[in-house]
Amino acid sequence: MNLSDLEKLLALDAEHVWHPYAAAPAVVAPYLVESASGTRLKLADGRELIDGMSSWWAAIHGYNHPVLNQAVTDQLASMAHVMFGGLTHEPAILLAKKLVDLTPDRLTRVFFCDSGSVSVEVAIKMAIQYWLSLGQAAKNKLLTIRHGYHGDTFGAMSVCDPVAGMHHLFGDLVNGQFFVEAPAPSGGNERQLVEMERMLAENNGRIAVVILEPMVQGAGGMRFYPPDFLKKVRVLCDQYQVLLIADEIATGFGRTGRMFACEHAAVTPDIMCVGKALTGGYLSFAATMTTEEVCRTISTKGPKMLMHGPTYMANPLACSVALASLGLLAQFPLARRIGEIELLLRQGLEKCRELAPVKDVRVLGAIGVIETHAPVDQQKIQECVMAQGVWLRPFNNLIYTMPPFIISDQEIVMITEAINFSLS
Ligand SMILES: *Cc1c(COP(=O)(O)O)cnc(C)c1O
Repeated sequence: MNLSDLEKLLALDAEHVWHPYAAAPAVVAPYLVESASGTRLKLADGRELIDGMSSWWAAIHGYNHPVLNQAVTDQLASMAHVMFGGLTHEPAILLAKKLVDLTPDRLTRVFFCDSGSVSVEVAIKMAIQYWLSLGQAAKNKLLTIRHGYHGDTFGAMSVCDPVAGMHHLFGDLVNGQFFVEAPAPSGGNERQLVEMERMLAENNGRIAVVILEPMVQGAGGMRFYPPDFLKKVRVLCDQYQVLLIADEIATGFGRTGRMFACEHAAVTPDIMCVGKALTGGYLSFAATMTTEEVCRTISTKGPKMLMHGPTYMANPLACSVALASLGLLAQFPLARRIGEIELLLRQGLEKCRELAPVKDVRVLGAIGVIETHAPVDQQKIQECVMAQGVWLRPFNNLIYTMPPFIISDQEIVMITEAINFSLS
C-alpha cells in the first residue's frame, strides 16, 4: 500500500473507529494489516510479523488456510444464512453431533451462539432456568473465583474479576455474585476450597451455579491452577447441589494439550461454553452445551423453553468452517505437537526468569506467560518485539504468547527471543 493511502486510512480510523479497551482515537495508533497467511501478519507498511497471539486464541491453524477457505466458499454457494427459528440445516446438525462426540460424555445438547460472551449469558440462563423449573426461584446467584474472565456482556462481566473488570463502574448491573480467592498454581488450595464450601453451605438456597475457566484463567491474569482443584470443585458442586459451568472458550480445542482443559481433571461440567478457536479464527461463533438432565428439566417444566435466540444463530458459514476446523484438528498430532511447543516455550522463556523486571515465568501447553513486577510499557514492548518481527499484545504485568498450532520450532524461538530482548 502506498504511504498516502495508508495515512488516509489511519486518519479515518482515528476519526471514526473505536478499538477494544481503548480511548478513541487510541493513544497509540493501531497498525494496519493488509493480509494474513499461515503464521504471518502482513502490515500495510510492508513489515511481516510472526503472530504470537493467534488473534486472541482463535486462529489455531493459521491464516488463509486453504481447507477453511474452501469450506466457507462451498457453503456460500448454497446459503450464507437462514434464520434458525423453525428451520434447521445440515452444517448445524453435523456440527452439533461432532461437538457432542468430542466433549465429555454427559454433554449431549448444543445451543449455538454468536460470540463467547453470549454463550456465557446462555449458560447462566440455563443454570437459573434449571432451578426455576424445579421450583427453586431463589437459586439465581453465581459463585466464581477471582481473576476470572468470562466476556464483556453484563451477566458475563458480573463474574469477571471485580478489580480487573472494573465492577465499580457499573453498579447494580454487575454486583451481587459470590467470589472466592483464586487457586494458586502450585496446589495447596485448601483455604480456597474451605472458603468455597462455606459460601456454598451458607448460601445454598441462593447459588445456582459455579462458573470458572478450567485450568487456565485467561484475560483475567493468565494464571494456571492444578487439575486437583477442578476435581474438588466438581465434588463440592455435587455435594451442595449447584451446577458447574466450565468456560472453555479460551482453553477449548487443544490449547492446553488436551482437546478440552476439563480432560486434565477428568471432570464433566453440567454446562460448557466453547468459542474462540471453534471456527479456527474465521468467524465469531460459540456454543453452549449441556446435559440431557438440564435440557429436559428446562424443556418440560415452567415456560418449557430456553429464553434465548440470536438472529444469526447457527450461521451456516460459521458452522461449516467450524466443521472444517475440527476436521483439521482431528488430523493434527495434538498431544505430541502441543507438548513440543510447550517445551520450546519453556526453554525460551525460562531464560527470562533472571531478568530484573520478571516476577514469574509460566508455560502450559501452547501458552507462554511472563509476569513482571510492575505494569509493562505496552507501546515500548510492542515496538521492541515488532522490530524483531513478532506480534504480541502485552497488558498490565503480562507479556504472553499463544501462537497458532502450526508454528515452526524456529518461529517459537524467534518469539521467545523477542520477549527476552524486550525485557533486557
Ligand atoms: C474471550 C473469552 C470470552 C468472551 O468471548 P467473546 O467471543 O470475546 O465474547 C469468554 N470467556 C473466556 C474464557 C474468554 O477467553
